[in-house]
Amino acid sequence: MMIDAIEVRKNFPILSTTVHGNPLIYLDNAATTQKPECVIQTIDELYRTSNANIHRGVHFLSEQCTQKYETARETVRKFINAEKTSEIIFTAGTTGSINLVATSFGERFVSVGDEIIISEMEHHSNIVPWQLLCERKGATLKIIPFDDKGILRIDLLDSLINEHTKIIALTHVSNVLGTINPVKEIIAKAHSRNIPVLIDGAQATPHGDVDVQDLDCDFYAFSGHKIYAPTGIGVLYGKEKLLEQMPPYQGGGDMISTVTFEKTTYAQLPLKFEAGTLNFIDAIALGAAIEYVNATGKQNIIEYEQKLLDYATKKLSAIEGLKIFGEADKKVALISFLLKDIHHLDTGMILDKKGIAVRTGTLCTEPLLTHFGKTGFVRASFAFYNTFDEIDTLAKNLEKILLMFN
Ligand code: PLP
Repeated sequence: MMIDAIEVRKNFPILSTTVHGNPLIYLDNAATTQKPECVIQTIDELYRTSNANIHRGVHFLSEQCTQKYETARETVRKFINAEKTSEIIFTAGTTGSINLVATSFGERFVSVGDEIIISEMEHHSNIVPWQLLCERKGATLKIIPFDDKGILRIDLLDSLINEHTKIIALTHVSNVLGTINPVKEIIAKAHSRNIPVLIDGAQATPHGDVDVQDLDCDFYAFSGHKIYAPTGIGVLYGKEKLLEQMPPYQGGGDMISTVTFEKTTYAQLPLKFEAGTLNFIDAIALGAAIEYVNATGKQNIIEYEQKLLDYATKKLSAIEGLKIFGEADKKVALISFLLKDIHHLDTGMILDKKGIAVRTGTLCTEPLLTHFGKTGFVRASFAFYNTFDEIDTLAKNLEKILLMFN
């Protein structure tokens, strides 16, 4: 069923607001998505009727909240088709999830002389935690490059892997190039050499159908706020047999079984990795966001967003002086570009005056920008509430900016 974006937009209060006197055109969805009424209402209602700390009390509210939290975990499990709820750990977001693995997996499995492979198109969140680990352990980071179209050079993977490789950490979808990487193929190749793989799914979960069992990834990280849920909540999926071998990431309440001054034993998965009072309200709201996405239909979202991408690519490519970065055949609905030698910040600021929100700057991917010899891009990223009219308005304004600078 084709999505009716006009109808969808009615569920997102912020989309009917104005910016600098113009209707808001929100094209910064890869940075964070807007929230539907059902998510906003879930948070509001929880604080009004159910708020109490989870896993701790025997009283009514605590039990109610605990049940909702664990139901949200089950909703997440189904959403990414994990085998068990014990493999779903709530974190603060993709960054939190990757840091957890880099620290805990790194502590257990990485030592001096070992190697970790990432790619040239990673977000800083999937670079820096591994660099920190390498510094701590005396390990080395190796990089899979991409070509000028934004396609990973997986033909080079064999030459990068060796007996020292301890983990491969790779983005499913590039937040700048839009490229959908062939992660299933890469995981199979890594597994044939007994190397686990972490997938950064921050930009894949909002746009696709993720099945961690089908991918056979060892870890999968994503953020709630990029998938219509609140900020401050995210997910780490990890295979049980690996998570069980990893030490706790943080110590505190809820992650223990028993504590004495001499020795502490830890809780079973997933609580072993959920120390302290978690962001349980937003975890429950993430469940509501996923239910909303499910009701809209993942396939409907994929189809509609691909139409938006095709249309926007055609429109923007037709603008003389506009260069698109990221031309892989398989992309999600986002386009990074530059207008001639006009500074990305100028483009972004002028668009803002027209009510059009795009992202500008390094997009948290400085090594990727270095590949192209640039210091920043403009990025328009779409969600299923964006319309073809909004793309027309963006294109018209980009043409005006070019004229203005000529
Ligand atoms: N990985 C990718 C590919 C991203 O696009 C982002 C955010 O833009 C992140 C990781 C970090 O996500 P968060 O800031 O929600 O932890």
